[in-house]
Amino acid sequence: MTKKERYKYVIEWFQQNMPNAETELHYTNPYELLVAVILSAQCTDKRVNIVTPDLFRRFPEPAILAKATFEDVEPYIRSVTFANNKTRHLIGMANMLMDTYGGEVPDTIEELVRLPGVGRKTANVIVSVVFDKPGMAVDTHVFRVSARIGLTTNARTPLQTEQQLVANIPQELLAIAHHWIILHGRYICVARKPKCNECGLRPACKYYKTDMRYVYEAQ
Ligand code: SF4
Repeated sequence: MTKKERYKYVIEWFQQNMPNAETELHYTNPYELLVAVILSAQCTDKRVNIVTPDLFRRFPEPAILAKATFEDVEPYIRSVTFANNKTRHLIGMANMLMDTYGGEVPDTIEELVRLPGVGRKTANVIVSVVFDKPGMAVDTHVFRVSARIGLTTNARTPLQTEQQLVANIPQELLAIAHHWIILHGRYICVARKPKCNECGLRPACKYYKTDMRYVYEAQ
């Protein structure tokens, strides 16, 4: 199977089987999504969704969060991973939104990555989900799953994965493709033991062909 054929198969499979893939984080506006994505770094969306309703009620806009102290915010997110750092990032992010961006979430990756707690992955999520611009956020799931299937070749960094995916997935599908691959990595192509016997991508998957086929055939 050529790379082109592999991409075609994978995209068509996802289009048929996950036509409405979207983020599992709960939010109602760009500010809330930004907060939720910052909190979700190395934490589960499920856990983030537990803490955000109270957090958003107490700090409904960046102007209010910007004036908060560490002690005001930390109790709301204590159960999330790296709560101390994330508390500082949230307050710093809100201050920068107020001081530099007029209280609005900016719509470019270059501006977003200047915000505390916002890396390239978070910035890509925001531009694609909120502003509907082409972007491919590469987290641990996207990095692993893309390599296993063979959508990427010898990608050593998230940026290399992003570049290869962007070069091969039609622009208008990039935003949803991000969710397809994340959800596939979260529920089927899981890190330790991918559930290949439940996976519809087997005919196109390099990892299955090379590593797992023999395991399953031997069972
Ligand atoms: S066949 Fe296995 S390794 Fe390949 S994408 Fe599916 S779950 Fe992942």
